[in-house]
Amino acid sequence: MSEKTIYDAAVIGGGLAGLSCAILLAKKGYKVVLFEKGTYPAHKVCGEYISMESWNFLTEELGVSLATMHLPFINRILVTSAKSKNVKAHLPLGGFGISRFTLDYDLKKIAEKNGVMVFNNCKVENVDFLNNIFSIKTEKGIFESNTCCGSYGKRSNLDAKWKRSFLTENNTRLNNYIGVKYHVTGPFTADEVALHNFKDGYCGLSKIEDEKYCLCYLTKASNLKNNNNSIEQMEETVLYKNLALKNIFLTAEKLYEKPLVISQVSFSNKTRVQDHVLMLGDAAGMITPLCGNGMSIALHTAKLAAGHISSYLQQNISRAVLENNYSKDWKKNFGKRIKMGRFIQRFFGKESFTNIFLIVMKVWPAFTKKIIRLTHGNPF
Ligand SMILES: Cc1cc2nc3c(=O)[nH]c(=O)nc-3n(C[C@H](O)[C@H](O)[C@H](O)COP(=O)(O)OP(=O)(O)OC[C@H]3O[C@@H](n4cnc5c(N)ncnc54)[C@H](O)[C@@H]3O)c2cc1C
Repeated sequence: MSEKTIYDAAVIGGGLAGLSCAILLAKKGYKVVLFEKGTYPAHKVCGEYISMESWNFLTEELGVSLATMHLPFINRILVTSAKSKNVKAHLPLGGFGISRFTLDYDLKKIAEKNGVMVFNNCKVENVDFLNNIFSIKTEKGIFESNTCCGSYGKRSNLDAKWKRSFLTENNTRLNNYIGVKYHVTGPFTADEVALHNFKDGYCGLSKIEDEKYCLCYLTKASNLKNNNNSIEQMEETVLYKNLALKNIFLTAEKLYEKPLVISQVSFSNKTRVQDHVLMLGDAAGMITPLCGNGMSIALHTAKLAAGHISSYLQQNISRAVLENNYSKDWKKNFGKRIKMGRFIQRFFGKESFTNIFLIVMKVWPAFTKKIIRLTHGNPF
């Protein structure tokens, strides 16, 4: 009877964080298995504006051919409010637009090319840790591994299994949001990411590949509830109060029939290590989308985790040190950024606050620059 494979690393969730970590570890020669509950390619709720800080990592370390994809570069931001106030600013580092449909699928192909065993349509149901080995129960059987990463996004069945504290919080301003996304075409500005505010939410518009634009908004779940759970009604009664946004919705040609919708988005604090599993990307903590930095943080967490996991697999550090070093590194790199994102989110969505914020941004450009700097990182 052949012996059961014990993988060096098991990765739960094949979004940006999971796929990148799996690729980096496979490139170092480790045996890696990745489980994704969905399929590829697939659309995801995301504004699809990526800060330039990730460009070199994606192209040079992961091998994504971004330069040949004719992607739009974005170096300006426009912020509007329902009271028709608006501010334009230059984005010092800038970013680019690419759909998750394209990017995640590309990364999945790169992972497989580098030897990662990718199982899609394969939800992880449970993780046990016994005798220094993880036993991962999935829809396709039980797998064993020396290390394990949880890169399953903002919320998953495993959070409930582990009784993670953010799930038991009452509804606060940090949780219970919904996200809605469309791909559209229309006469919009190619090199600008727009952030249009409305009551209890904001909507981003920016260009992606193939002359398409991503129109994506975040709002409190109560907005939907107060509109008979109808997205269309909510857009007409709430979002259209910002005339710039109304104009976009009325001129945009939607490229798929129904929007993609997610619920239960939470920006609460989360643990970075849970039952010896290293948490990556949104599973470790989510920055508010108005910062346009969640994808870069997800990619960067993958790089940090892969480095520490490799040291552990080389037997340079113990498991306790691996967990401690990753947690410390995470806090050092993202702690302030995530806090700042939450702080700014308070000002957006409340009409008077948003207007004051926009006035300050307009008369004091150094303030805008500072905010952008505090919510973004450097190339990694
Ligand atoms: C409305 C909105 C707009 C945003 N806009 C932007 C933006 O413009 N720019 C930006 O940088 N960031 C943005 N973000 C944030 C960004 O989308 C996330 O930070 C990023 O997707 C996190 O990547 P991830 O790999 O951690 O998670 P994900 O990309 O969510 O991947 C997690 C994967 O795990 C899988 N999974 C879950 N549970 C299991 C399980 N039990 N077993 C197996 N697989 C599982 C899921 O199917 C999924 O594919 C936005 C977020 C929202 C909500």
